[in-house]
Amino acid sequence: MTSISGKTDIDWAAFADQLAPVEVITEPVLIKKRSRDFFWYSPILNAELKRCFGDLVARPKTAEEMAHTIAVAFAHDAPIALRGGGTGNYGQSVPMDGGLIIDTTEMNKVLEVGDGYVKAQAGALMADINTALEASGQEMAMFPSTQDIATVGGFVAGGSAGIGSIANGALRDPGNIVSLTAMSVKETPKARVFEGADALHIHHAWGLNGVITDVTLRTVPKRDWVGCIATFETYEAAYAAGLALAEATDIARKLLTTVDARICTYFPKLEGHIRPEKHLLVSMIPIGDRDAFAALIKATGGHVDLMLTEAEREAAGLPHVYDFSYNHTTLQVLKADRSATYQQIGCPIPPDPKAIAALRPKIGDDVWMHHEFARVGGEIVTFDLPIIWFTTPERLAEINATYEANGFAVYDAHTWNVESGGLKADYNHLAWKKRMDPKGLLNAAKSRFWADVAHLDADTIQSLTQTETET
Ligand SMILES: Cc1cc2nc3c(=O)[nH]c(=O)nc-3n(C[C@H](O)[C@H](O)[C@H](O)COP(=O)(O)OP(=O)(O)OC[C@H]3O[C@@H](n4cnc5c(N)ncnc54)[C@H](O)[C@@H]3O)c2cc1C
Repeated sequence: MTSISGKTDIDWAAFADQLAPVEVITEPVLIKKRSRDFFWYSPILNAELKRCFGDLVARPKTAEEMAHTIAVAFAHDAPIALRGGGTGNYGQSVPMDGGLIIDTTEMNKVLEVGDGYVKAQAGALMADINTALEASGQEMAMFPSTQDIATVGGFVAGGSAGIGSIANGALRDPGNIVSLTAMSVKETPKARVFEGADALHIHHAWGLNGVITDVTLRTVPKRDWVGCIATFETYEAAYAAGLALAEATDIARKLLTTVDARICTYFPKLEGHIRPEKHLLVSMIPIGDRDAFAALIKATGGHVDLMLTEAEREAAGLPHVYDFSYNHTTLQVLKADRSATYQQIGCPIPPDPKAIAALRPKIGDDVWMHHEFARVGGEIVTFDLPIIWFTTPERLAEINATYEANGFAVYDAHTWNVESGGLKADYNHLAWKKRMDPKGLLNAAKSRFWADVAHLDADTIQSLTQTETET
């Protein structure tokens, strides 16, 4: 079997035989499919990653099969890319060095439901975990809007926040990741449990410093949520109402999103259900808080267009309101026009409607704002995930510069390396890579700095600061 990636000189047929009894995929067309994620959101990443393929896919069903898979890869010095649902946006699971793709979706059992936590194998789907929690009267503290295809291992290794984060914080906030088990990539792979703050060594490291086999996440008591959409005459008014709702003491909320009216023209499923040409505030509130919500919307100059229980939503044949939040907002536009892209912007803290109003005329007609409200480190924060009508990398850089010049932080969505996204500003993740994966087989191309530090021991890597190795 020749190398599909063109980047390895491993005998992949012999490799596949040695993996037995682990299920493998050898058909090139299926391997190529599993070499992609949602990097095509970015024209820049699309150009860079669309021709990167793996050579073989392994689908272990148990931790023992996972250990065997890793041991075979270790013996062959094979690059490894881990893959859950493949819904990441930055090519996180793309095998840039070719090699073995480990698809975790067969390791999908919910292992334990306890009071305030759930433990599941890495390949369990977030939606299935939420369903498994129902009988105990609990729900996930947060989930990504891709929950139907995203795995819990992929969420912890590649995600950051989601529906529920306005109430319960980001994944990295204390208590949200209770613990995780990660396997080392060695001759004899060893499972290591990372508890509490230690789990952050592996969290959001894009699968480059350990193979997560199970995760224990915080759960919260389940509530009956109502999906609401309110409309406003101006974007500034929608954002100010979002902030008022985030700060309200008499209304709980699980989701808070504002969307520029121009983006809403790409929401055909909402046609006839929301007022046209208005700016949206999308939210989920408990059923008992409906009157207080309606009063707040009235007081902030808005109009309640939709307020549906789950049963009412199903009867009306409407999508979940979270299909218009997080990166699903972007997806609605991309379904109609692939020339759109997006960016990830951190807004000034505390949120300031005046700062948003001041920025809007400066940012250009090719940037349509969409904010997510969340609670991070106990503070209310907002992120702008604007639709950007892409023309050139230079114009994108200009848009980034305008945001930055006005006090907004850019967490670049058009980079395939983990350090440039803004959440890995030190060398901790690489020190753990050295400890867990000394040969550097796991997703090494996704680090800007690994090649520079791979020869050092873990403690020396840990002590570095980025300026010492940045070239
Ligand atoms: C429409 C859309 C909406 C989205 N909304 C959100 C959102 O609300 N919040 C959010 O945080 N993200 C969001 N994302 C990004 C993504 O969907 C989530 O982060 C999701 O949880 C990733 O899960 P996955 O199983 O698809 O992971 P994958 O894409 O398969 O993998 C993600 C990363 O994790 C690594 N990985 C996977 N499994 C393991 C493992 N077992 N051990 C170690 N590393 C592993 C991969 O190598 C990769 O680096 C969205 C993306 C899209 C396209």
